[in-house]
Amino acid sequence: MRIHIITDMEGVSGIVKGAQTGGGMPLYDEGRKLYTEEINAAVRGAKAAGATEIVVMDCHGAGKEWSFNSLMPELLHPDCEFVVQDDWTEYTDFLEEGCDAALLVGMHAMAGTRLGVLNHTVSGQDYFNLWFNGTLVGETGIHAAVCGNWQTPVLLVTGDDAACAEGTELLGSGLTTVAVKTGLGIQSARQIPPVRARELIEAGAKQALSNLKAVDPWNPGSPCEIKVEFKHTGAPDKLRFRKGVERVDDRTITVTADTWWEAWTAFYF
Ligand SMILES: [Zn+2]
Repeated sequence: MRIHIITDMEGVSGIVKGAQTGGGMPLYDEGRKLYTEEINAAVRGAKAAGATEIVVMDCHGAGKEWSFNSLMPELLHPDCEFVVQDDWTEYTDFLEEGCDAALLVGMHAMAGTRLGVLNHTVSGQDYFNLWFNGTLVGETGIHAAVCGNWQTPVLLVTGDDAACAEGTELLGSGLTTVAVKTGLGIQSARQIPPVRARELIEAGAKQALSNLKAVDPWNPGSPCEIKVEFKHTGAPDKLRFRKGVERVDDRTITVTADTWWEAWTAFYF
């Protein structure tokens, strides 16, 4: 059984402040240790469920050389391999080769979710709203669409309760969720301590993988229109000449293609 563990930092127990997730900031090393240990819990759970190949992919944009490079290699469970990428959604080889399921660990809610800890979508500076064929999505939706493009279901979402609720709304009640904190505001939360959160994630990963058909691979539909409402006008200014990109107002673009992946790759990179 081949399992992709796709991870972000903001939804980890013990992480509430932006300074714990920004590369080079004073609390960043504390944050990355908490992050790595939660991922190890998911690796243990996947192994207990029978995973024979586990690839971890860090999707946290920490800034500069830390982007998608926040894991502490020395602390990682020896029974996984891990990918460091230069651009988010760049690495798809493991999915293309055929992957049985994806587990999303450490997720945060989409931009504009009031009780979502460190809520944002893609880039806190740029993205205001993102839709795939009319469905408002956050980063769980992006990961689910990438995985779904190669028929891989997302079976687990961990993070704060807002991220878990967002996952269930998108992917249905077959999704296993593990909430490790309750958001009280963008940098406030009531939390389950990391040691217990890891036990819950290990058990959640094992349970999620007990039924590989619990959630269907997610496909936003074909053809697919991706719509991005940015916070500012700069990004649409840059994207307006891309093939397939249409500017619908000063801050909003749409891209339409036969498949979600074609639409995504037409503007994202
Ligand atoms: Zn992140």
